[in-house]
This record gives sequence, C-alpha cells and structure tokens, in this order.
Amino acid sequence: MAELLTLEEAQRLILERVWPLPAERVPIEAAAGRVLAEPAGAVVDLPPFASSAMDGFALRASETPGTLPVVARIAAGGPAERELREGEAMAIATGGVVPEGADAVIPIEYVVEDDNKLEIPDPVAKGANVRPRGGDVRAGETVVAAGTRLGPAQLGALAAAGIAEVACGAQPRAAVLATGTELRQPGEPLAPGEIYEANGLILAAQLASAGALVERLAAVADDEDAHREALARGLEHDVLVTSGGVSVGPHDLVRRIEAGLGVEEVFWRVAVKPGKPVSFGVRGSTLVFGLPGNPVSSLVGFELFVRPAVLALQGHRDPLPRFEPGRLGTDAKLNPDRDELVRARTRLEYGAVMLDPLGGQDSHMVARAAGADALVLFPRGDGALVAGAPVRYLRLG
Ligand code: AMP
Ligand code: MG
Repeated sequence: MAELLTLEEAQRLILERVWPLPAERVPIEAAAGRVLAEPAGAVVDLPPFASSAMDGFALRASETPGTLPVVARIAAGGPAERELREGEAMAIATGGVVPEGADAVIPIEYVVEDDNKLEIPDPVAKGANVRPRGGDVRAGETVVAAGTRLGPAQLGALAAAGIAEVACGAQPRAAVLATGTELRQPGEPLAPGEIYEANGLILAAQLASAGALVERLAAVADDEDAHREALARGLEHDVLVTSGGVSVGPHDLVRRIEAGLGVEEVFWRVAVKPGKPVSFGVRGSTLVFGLPGNPVSSLVGFELFVRPAVLALQGHRDPLPRFEPGRLGTDAKLNPDRDELVRARTRLEYGAVMLDPLGGQDSHMVARAAGADALVLFPRGDGALVAGAPVRYLRLG
C-alpha cells in the first residue's frame, strides 16, 4: 500500500484550499463566537478619564500625612465640579472623576473623617488608587486583534472601548448529510439490520460550535440517485460534510458520485486512527469533507479536518487544533502506521493533567466516547508509552 498522507500534510492541504469568506458588519450584541476580520480600534481612551479605583478621598500626595478639609463629594457618573486646590481633599466614589490638581486617592478605610475634616495618618504615594486616563487602552489602539474569536472578555473589551459594531468573517453555510441504507432516526422502530443515525447530530453540533450556519439534509440510502440529489444540494453550501460511504465497499458511493458532480478530490485516506478513509475535495469555493461512518471516526475526523477549515473560512488566525501537554495515566502501545486519537478522561494530579484512556476504543463505540473529555494524540511509531509519559491532548467541548 502506498504511504498514507500524514495528519499534518492533510491539514496543510485543506488550509491551502481555504480563503476567508468576505467580512460583514456585526453589532457586538450579535458577535459572540464570531471571528474579527479587522483589528477593532478603541473609540475612546479606556478609562475615558482619570478615575478613582476606591471609595475614598482625592488629594495631593505631597500633602500627606496631615489634616485636610473635605470641600466636595464626587459621585460616579458626572464631571468633576472644579479642580482641587492646595490644602484640600474631596470625597470620591469608585469610578468618580479624579479632579484636576489631585494626584492620589486614599481609601476611606485609612482615614478618619469628622465634620468635613480629614485626618490622614500615613503618607500616600503619588498616583495611588488613581486609574489614569487611557491606562487600559488609548483611543485608536487595537482592543482585539484580527483573527480572534470573540468570547465574553473580548466582547466586554469592545463594549468598554465604545465599539458598537465590528467587521467579522461571514459564517460559513454548511450542509450535513448522513449516508447509509441502515440508518433510522431515533424514535422510529428499528427493523433487522438497521441502526439509529448519530452522525448528523454530532456533525451539526460540531459545525455550529465552530461558527457555521448548519443545514441538516435528510439521511440518504446507499442509492446513486438519492446520493446525487442530496450531494448536489449540499454542494450549494460553503462546506459539505458527509458521513459514511467513503470506504472501499460496493455501497460506498460518496466519492464517485461527488466526482460526477464536479468535485475535485484533493485527498482520500490519512494515516490517522480512527478515521483513515476520510476524503477531502473542492468544487469551486465549496469545501467537501467525506467522513467515515463510524460515529467516533466522524467525531474525531471533524476535529482534525473540518473544524480548522470552518474556522479558517471565518478568518481565524490559528485554526488548527490546539493540543496541550499532559501526562498519560496508563501504559499504552503505539500504532506503527497511524497517529491515534485516543478517547480519554482528564484528571488532575498535583496540578498536572493526567489522561486516562477509556475502555472501548473501537470507532463504533460512540457511547463509550461520550464519557471522554479529551482526545490524546498517540504519535505513530514503534513501541509503547509508559504511564506518566508526556503526551499531547485536545480538549473536547
Ligand atoms: P461506512 O463508513 O458507511 O462504511 O459506515 C461504517 C459504519 O458506521 C457502519 O457500521 C455504519 O452502519 C455506521 N454508520 C454509518 N453512518 C452512521 C450514522 N450516521 N450514524 C451511526 N452509525 C453510522
Ligand atoms: Mg455506509
């Protein structure tokens, strides 16, 4: 058998074929999970004015320790009434505007105030508890970089910096098609030889979590006409993901029918386990992924091949799976020919992530896989890994 394509080569071939979709303006309220197409620049200095970090008293550091009259009270939300003159203090709330002339705030807990007279027992450092204007970011500076997926912290930063709308990569429109004469929907009765269809739901959930707009096509039997019709419909999307029908059996029709519909195959089969018979092709700007039918193969194949493409379509700057370092909880044998993605559970041991492979690693065992929260990468090679060996793993969402 010819040398199989490696995981890295396959991922490179996919990303070479991806161009980001055009950007569109999105209100920040609707931008969670979207990928920024352009750097977002602050509209205002943040904070927009020198503000107090504490409830306390604004004063001049050089006049401490000592006794000062309290000449005004500053709440959050309004301008400073006037500047602070020599020999004065002003009460100030957290977030209040530090008046001109003041260079420090002493917290309320450290002073004694009596009849508008303030006793300051200890010296206060210049700048103490004053949040300088623009100390977080200055107007015009980048708040969130292009290619970043917007999570809660990023959205909060955009809002705080006064950015109401951002340019985001368009969300890919993705179609999911499960193939197999044996497939029935849960809720229907099973006739002999039939099984319940799982992959459509797995893949739709994964696509949605990657930011795609998903259309689930009705599963098709292993019939050429049914395949042709459904695949033609799927090819109208930015991404088409099929499951099943990409192996070498007589009922594996997906690649042949796709070829007839003008799909140019880029690769078929990759040295990974599970999921070896995965196929990837393009037609025009449509990316076409054929994942093997075993549910765990679909699940894993999506993370390795499809998610990076869906993120890259949105302009994500770092679309490949992020494997993190951990340690193996048990001994394990390596596969000489294929990188293996082993379903495992994470556990913390003295602060380090330990990965315990689950029993039942066969690619049809989706119920076993449901107990996993990580995929451990066993690199292809001879020999074995011993318990405690450093490994890399991918967290499952
Ligand atoms: P295939 O890749 O079509 O040869 O399918 C491999 C195995 O996965 C077979 O046992 C199929 O019955 C099973 N299978 C295929 N598609 C699905 C699906 N959508 N849900 C659950 N199992 C499937
Ligand atoms: Mg099949």
